[in-house]
Amino acid sequence: MQDTEINGPKSRGEGVVADALLQKCLSQNIRITPQRQIIIKVIEESEDHPDVDQLYQRAVQIDNTISIATVYRTVKLLEEAGVIERLEFGDGRARYEESGEHHEHLVDIETGEVIEFYDEPLERMKEEIANRMGYELVDHRLELFVRKKKTS
Ligand SMILES: [Zn+2]
Repeated sequence: MQDTEINGPKSRGEGVVADALLQKCLSQNIRITPQRQIIIKVIEESEDHPDVDQLYQRAVQIDNTISIATVYRTVKLLEEAGVIERLEFGDGRARYEESGEHHEHLVDIETGEVIEFYDEPLERMKEEIANRMGYELVDHRLELFVRKKKTS
């Protein structure tokens, strides 16, 4: 059951276990092939909300037998299992990140850079708005499209 290749770097950032995504996939009974394992690792190590093409570029550097079709299928499978999330930042590209702690995104329209943030009062406000209108909040996402202020 356990594949011997599962061990990657053990931690990153704030002590997050680097193979947590793989573990989530295993617990969702996703069949892990060596190629899928590489794609999962690439997603896990990407902090920049990559699209399928970017994931493919990264995966193929580790294993050049991986095709873009395999990346597409794997990403779809992981999205359906709920272990990754699909994001759209208004440019028509579907981008992906590991599911996890809720956060919002700030998208720099000039550089394409995506910055994550979390704001507690904002979270409360979203719930209040839904409530006030007679609804229960079930899901929410907010993207702020921004441009760096000119300092002159
Ligand atoms: Zn994010």
